[in-house]
Amino acid sequence: MSKKSNILNPQIINIETGLETHKLDTIKKFPVKANLANYQPLYDTFNYDKSLSDEIIYYADGSLNVAYNAIDRHLVNGRKNKVAIYAIDNSLAVKKYTYNDLFILSNQAANALVKLGVKKGDRVFIFLPRIIETYVITLALARIGAIAGPLFSAFGPDALKDRLLDSGAKVIVTDTNLKPRLESIKKNLPDLESIVVVGGKTAELDKNEYAYAEIISNQPKTFNNCHLKPEDPLYMLYTSGTTGKPKGVVHVQNDLKCQHMTTKWVLDLQEDDIYWCTADPGWVTGMVYGIYGPLSNGASVVCFEPGFNAKAWFKVLEDLQVTVWYTSPTALRMLMKEGFNLVKEYNLNALRHILSVGEPLNPEVIRWGMEVFNLPIHDNWWQTETGSQMISNLPCLPIKLGSMGKPLPGIYAAIVDDEGNELEPGQIGKLVLKPGWPSMFNSLWRDVERYDEYFKIKNWYFTGDNAWKDTDGYFWFIGRSDDVINTSGHRVGPFEVESALLEHEYIVEAGVIGIPDEERGEIIKAFIVLKDGISESEEVLKDIKDFIKKQLAFHAYPRLIEVRDKLPKTRSGKIMRRLLKAQELGLPQGDLTGLDD
Ligand code: AMP
Repeated sequence: MSKKSNILNPQIINIETGLETHKLDTIKKFPVKANLANYQPLYDTFNYDKSLSDEIIYYADGSLNVAYNAIDRHLVNGRKNKVAIYAIDNSLAVKKYTYNDLFILSNQAANALVKLGVKKGDRVFIFLPRIIETYVITLALARIGAIAGPLFSAFGPDALKDRLLDSGAKVIVTDTNLKPRLESIKKNLPDLESIVVVGGKTAELDKNEYAYAEIISNQPKTFNNCHLKPEDPLYMLYTSGTTGKPKGVVHVQNDLKCQHMTTKWVLDLQEDDIYWCTADPGWVTGMVYGIYGPLSNGASVVCFEPGFNAKAWFKVLEDLQVTVWYTSPTALRMLMKEGFNLVKEYNLNALRHILSVGEPLNPEVIRWGMEVFNLPIHDNWWQTETGSQMISNLPCLPIKLGSMGKPLPGIYAAIVDDEGNELEPGQIGKLVLKPGWPSMFNSLWRDVERYDEYFKIKNWYFTGDNAWKDTDGYFWFIGRSDDVINTSGHRVGPFEVESALLEHEYIVEAGVIGIPDEERGEIIKAFIVLKDGISESEEVLKDIKDFIKKQLAFHAYPRLIEVRDKLPKTRSGKIMRRLLKAQELGLPQGDLTGLDD
């Protein structure tokens, strides 16, 4: 099978590291050749609406609707009966939904939500597992112009309360399994008007709670899409910084330009591809490259409800003949741990393009990928704030093992010092981007000051990551420049975990850091000081662990807890996480002049 790539029609791949060159002559399916001469002129593409005129449809007055682009237009361009979603439930049964099905379902959902009082600009949160309704509601909200707020289905009550309260959520859509996590907090959400429950029955629900199936069943199958300005909000996603509670990152309608084009260039989706993005729609990758980007490109998308299970994953790849697969380094490392025998039981010949995002992709995982899939794994880098992929190993570029790739067309990335001066290739510094690409976050929810902070040095957008660039323009990730933890590709703010720990009656102080872990990238370690009169014991620690697991998401609870008599603090009383980390990892402790002793 030789498929033409969407971008630059490349020929052969050559994977290089600084020292060694792997010539992958045996590569069978994905013909790739770097052609920088063709690549460069695409720079600035995002700035020319004309070049996108075939790709994104705007109304005559310059407004647009994302749901029109993701669904409606496919009803008149030959994709009406094409499968939009392969929904796989927990028993691994597959149900197909065509673009026409998605059109009807999302119109009915939009009508039902409007009947509940949802209007343009309202925040509606989606607290659902990976099921068809997650797609339907996301797109129904796009029709109305309401702001979709994805919530990771593993979140516990504390994590939910922070986000729902701050955003002033008006409606939450959830299901019967997840709803109990809202019970203890719903009374403390003054703006909340309704909860819609997928799988719920009216007789079993409280006042202002609605059974999803019942409220959509008699709704009209058409809906008048709201015409939205490019700068009107589309979705908001809470993400963690080094200080304070998670912040609401707001993205707008015009993000679709980047979502659509990067899906085309980086994921290389083509008409007959079956595409599986394993990320949860509660995270930005699951939203942008699980829903908006691929549907806008008219792709057939896999929606997989169960959690991670190596056998089930390989079975899905085989049974559905998945051709393009977008996943994470942690998932790949977990599959790699299964060894070679399991994967050999499955016929994965349909796969032609594999991508990874969210954390550093180790060279040994790429080598393993070559062995078992006979395909290179293409790493790419971006963030919730950037709204779409920024740095990528495009299909047309030779891969340097361990590098995130090169900035995409229209994106200018650089490595700078603390004053914003660009550094020479080879020097480690702060990874920054030149602001202005269409999917750049448009605001932080009700926090202008914090938004401006990102851009305050020489008008660069500071990503919070450290990296370096080589002489060929490839970018290499070093780590975060702040205290943010990346565990299994999920961004966790230490403050959030510390706050949850402090809610436990035995704890008076808490400091949280990430420590390296072979499988998950980092795991979370908490240092705590116990209240006077409470001493460390197995029961005390178990009580704390059980408590924290319930409060936070599964990925965000500290796997390790150490009790200390006191924690290192600055004179102003701030816990010095940097010092805790240095002590834990046996690293130099750096400048200790601010330490309060
Ligand atoms: P999030 O906003 O939750 O998507 O997290 C974004 C952060 O994940 C980035 O700032 C990086 O620290 C990390 N990240 C994303 N992609 C990569 C990658 N390809 N390599 C290394 N780190 C990554």
